[in-house]
Amino acid sequence: MTIETNLMAELTWVEYQASIQRENPFVLLPVGALEQHGPHLPMGTDHLVPLAISKAIADRIRAIVAPPFNYGYKSQPRMGGGNHFCGTTSLEGHTLSLLLRDVLLEFVRHGVKRIAVIDGHYENMMFLTEGIDLALTEARRDGITDVRVVRLEYWDFTSEETLKKVFPGGFPGYALEHAAVMETSMSLHLHPHLVRLDKIPNDPPADFPAFDVFPYNLTQIPPSGVLSQAKGASAEKGKLLFDEYVEKISAALQSEMERP
Ligand code: ZN
Ligand code: MN
Repeated sequence: MTIETNLMAELTWVEYQASIQRENPFVLLPVGALEQHGPHLPMGTDHLVPLAISKAIADRIRAIVAPPFNYGYKSQPRMGGGNHFCGTTSLEGHTLSLLLRDVLLEFVRHGVKRIAVIDGHYENMMFLTEGIDLALTEARRDGITDVRVVRLEYWDFTSEETLKKVFPGGFPGYALEHAAVMETSMSLHLHPHLVRLDKIPNDPPADFPAFDVFPYNLTQIPPSGVLSQAKGASAEKGKLLFDEYVEKISAALQSEMERP
């Protein structure tokens, strides 16, 4: 009997091995965080969104979706509200890098040649880069030189045209888009039952200086944890964003699959 699934956790090892050997698929690793997302969005938003994107990509190109990393690097005030909120549960940077290195090296041992790290939490970026670099350095020492790893932040695939439709009043910038219009819209599209629409706060956008200060200056951080208005969110905007990410990331990975 054959079960149709692209999820690594649902495959048997025999099916997984056959797929790796016969189809040379991309392994997609969604990475996020467990982080406050205001009073209206689930704390898993940063991994739920890239997991959904990864699943949709795997319906379009030859790919297997690995179980996501549900924890990420420490939330920062100017992009995630800061690490002091109850519920936000973070890793140290080197832990995340080494976790990724270990998992990538396991995929390499399985014979995987193409891996994409699909990041949904900005703070992770350079620690993921470090993990990839450590893994590829170690693989090279073992004589393995034909593995390619893509790291991407999904929001970088947003077109100007889509931004204009999603933000008719002007785009506040990706940093302030924490638990705001983009993530709330995608959550309304992907899992509307998890969005507490009546709890969206009415706060004005956060006004941060151009520097970070430690310990945090709590007077600069909106107590709700939402960095700019989420009121303009809609499932329709969420679908527009989500479909664009799936289409463009699929095309990018396909070209990395084919590039010699
Ligand atoms: Zn987020
Ligand atoms: Mn985040």
